[in-house]
Formats: sequence, C-alpha cells, structure tokens
Amino acid sequence: MAAEGRVLSVASEAVPLIKTGGLADVAGALPEALAPEGWDMRVMMPAYPGLLAKLGLAEEVWAAPDLFGGPARVMKGRAGEVTFLLLDAPHLYDRRGGPYSEGGHDYADNPERFAALSWAAAEVARNGAADGWKPEILHAHDWQAGLAPAYLRYGPQTGVKTVLTIHNIAFQGIAAPYKLGVLRLPGWAFSAEQIEYYGNISTLKAGLVTADAITTVSPTYAEELMRPEFGMGLQGVIAARARDLHGILNGVDEGVWSPESDPNATPYSSKDLKAKAENRVALAAEFGLTPGEGPLAIVVSRLTDQKGIDLLVAVLSDFIEAGGSLAVLGSGDPVLEAAMRRAADRWPGRVGVRIGYDEALSHRMFAGGDAVLVPSRFEPCGLTQMYGLRYGTLPVVAATGGLNDTVIGATPASLSGKAATGITFHPVDAGGLAGALRRLTELYADRALWTQMVRRAMKAEVGWAEPAARYAALYRSLMT
Ligand code: ADP
Repeated sequence: MAAEGRVLSVASEAVPLIKTGGLADVAGALPEALAPEGWDMRVMMPAYPGLLAKLGLAEEVWAAPDLFGGPARVMKGRAGEVTFLLLDAPHLYDRRGGPYSEGGHDYADNPERFAALSWAAAEVARNGAADGWKPEILHAHDWQAGLAPAYLRYGPQTGVKTVLTIHNIAFQGIAAPYKLGVLRLPGWAFSAEQIEYYGNISTLKAGLVTADAITTVSPTYAEELMRPEFGMGLQGVIAARARDLHGILNGVDEGVWSPESDPNATPYSSKDLKAKAENRVALAAEFGLTPGEGPLAIVVSRLTDQKGIDLLVAVLSDFIEAGGSLAVLGSGDPVLEAAMRRAADRWPGRVGVRIGYDEALSHRMFAGGDAVLVPSRFEPCGLTQMYGLRYGTLPVVAATGGLNDTVIGATPASLSGKAATGITFHPVDAGGLAGALRRLTELYADRALWTQMVRRAMKAEVGWAEPAARYAALYRSLMT
C-alpha cells in the first residue's frame, strides 16, 4: 500500500489523543499530510491513562515481559486519520498527572519512561511489528524520542534510517550519569562525542549525534540553533552536523483553522470580510471590552518568558493610550498571569484576560481580532501567527525563528511591493515591541491599506502540502 515507504514516527504527544503544545499538532498532522505523497506513517506514543479506550478496536503488535521495570505491549489502532502504536506499560504511564509532570513537578523516572518509548520504537523498527509492518525510516521527535536513533545505532545494525526533529531545544532530556545502565546505554557512549552533556546524559544530544538526519521546524531556527544565544549549550553539537540539518516549517491544519468554515464563529472569507466585523463585536462583548479607535489585539499563548509576555506588560500603556485594546487567553507563569490580571484591572473595557486553556475561545479570538501579538524571544516555528494569517488577524511578531519565516513585515518596500502580511520587529526587547505596536496603530488607521494586507495575509500558504513534500524528499534521500 505504501508506494514510497513506511515511517515510524515516535512522539510523546499527538492529536487527536493528547496535546500540551505544538509538538502534538505536528505529530498528529504529519501522517495525513504524507499519505497523499505515498507514505505510510504510524505514530508510536505512550498509552497514557484513557487513551487505549479511544482507539476503538486495537490489536497487540509487540510485547515485552520487562520493559524498564514491568511488562509492556504495543497496541495498534486508529484515532482520527492516524494509525497509532500505543505503548501500554502501566508501571510507567499510569499516572494521575499530565504526560510529563504532576502538580508542576516532573516525574522522577521521566528518563526511564521515555527511554522505554524509544526502546520499544527501536525494537519495532529493527524487527518489525507482529502484523508484518516494518518501517524504512524512524522519525523521532524531541528529547523524549532522542534515544530511539541511539538504540538503533548502538545495537545490532539495521538498514533503518533515522530522523530527529527538534521542536524546542530548551528541553534536553537530562538524566543523571548513574542512569546509564538503567537506560540500557553502553558505558563507552558516555563521552563528549556521544551522549554525555556537562557530566549528565542528554537524550536529545543522543539523538543529535546518532540520527542520520536532523530537522527543526523552521529555516531561521535551524540557523539560530548553531549560535550560542539560541543553542542552549548544544550549538556546537548542532553546528558539527550542519550538513545533515534541515529547517522545515510546520503547517496549519486547514480543516480546523479556516474562517470560511469555522463552526466557532460567523464564517467569512478574504473576498467578503463583513462577518469578521461581527465576530469582532462578539469578541469584544465576550471579554467585556469597548474598543477605542485603535486595533483589537489578541494573545493566545503559554504565558512564559519565552513568549515575551513580560515585554508586552512593560509596553502596554502606550498601546492602550493610543486607542488599542487587548484580549488575552493563556496560562503559565503565575507572575505573568498576575501581571495580566492587573492590566485588566487597570484598563477595564480595554484589556480583557482569561487565564486557562480553551480551544473554542481561541478560534473566536482569531475570528474577531484585528491583530495577534507574538513577541517571542525565541520561537522554533510558532502556530498562532499562522492562524492569524489564515484569519486575517495580522501577526505582530518578533523577527526570530519560524515567526521570521512565515510573516512578511510591513516596510516601505514590502508595502509598495504588495507583499507585507504583518509586522515584524527586532531587537526583541521592550523598545522593539513598543515600536511594533506604534506601527500597528498607524497601519490600522489607514483602513484601505490595512484591508489590503488582511486580504493578502489570508491567501498566504500555511498548509501542510509544502512541508509534507519536504519531509518526503528528505526520507527519499535517506533511502537511496
Ligand atoms: P508552543 O508549542 O511553544 O506553546 P506553538 O505556537 O507552536 O507554541 O503552539 C501552541 C498551540 O497551543 C497553538 O495551537 C495555540 O493556539 C495553542 N494554545 C496555547 N495556549 C492556549 C490557550 N490558553 N488556549 C487555547 N489554545 C492555546
């Protein structure tokens, strides 16, 4: 059935089963995006509590009497458009909290929990699953799957090729050195050339040195990762593999993110924007806002330093005084949550804040907002700026990572060339963001120009077709 080949994708989260961040969107979207290209991709993931029940009919395709301290089996089944291989190992995954932590504390045995995922994946790749399915490619995502290419490299040789994708270099899979044997790693691998990282084990580094190819989720982030400001200690390791490093942007699921068919809002299109104005009125009401003359900006984000939320807090007063208003949906750092709540108290009717996670509300915000603010200090790819493009909610973004690769900032040249789709700023500091918000207010005041930009942004290509073709080309190059 697979004309091109079979790929085992290994990830710690994937939609539609479980999501804490963008990784889940990507891992869940890739199989469907690659299918038209002739690829048969399955996703291996832990069977967190409740997930097996969501698979419907499931079939056991692998088992081990002792996988890092208890029995384990892999169950194959479908969810949405994805064929999952769920690793059922209750001693590792039957926990009350989230996939990685409970009550803000990481599980102490996370190294074993995700080494087990990597081990089972490497075994299925090496020997095939019980239903006869054997991949040509193992595609590992982030530190949780970083040991899968290492197990394939350090064990008996196979023809299986490996790809590691970095979704965020900030998470490196650090384990104490005494865990080497527990994690079934050979003693000789504890060296600076292999998996040792400042005296510890790094499962991300293990993947970086052993995978046949490395990808990250935007061309700009690929370049940034080789610099000390962004590489977070791994810049040298990545630079040494520059020839095998590829930046491939994430796509947006256009079935879910389309203003023409979004069930959460009144539909509109680039040709007919009238209903966007209605959605704006509804959004303002929902947040208790009475917008001034200026733009209604939105933020849908984890509230963390990475996302530059502190910068926004610092420069908000000028934006509000110039007539802007702001609706925020997010959660994260309690200090930033509190700062946002204070802003809402200080400017009632102009700043509205919802602390929490709410998918449907996020859709209504993109449908009704004028601009989406993404002032991230680093952003491997970023999804919300692409939702903003789709919905004509113009992105105001830091010129970093994937933000830099997806938004064409308004400059005299890009405006006269009819190319601008948003606003970009650099350096990523309070002054930079303040300037970008002034520019936003100015551009919004020129309604003809603004509407042109909105229409153009809505036509930008942000789907999976192009990224899927690039992954397919990479797999093909590894198989020849
Ligand atoms: P990251 O993975 O670093 O958090 P991304 O932009 O790649 O950032 O992906 C974040 C995803 O999570 C997007 O789909 C975004 O819409 C969603 N999201 C973030 N915070 C919230 C929230 N509070 N409510 C609903 N969706 C959210």
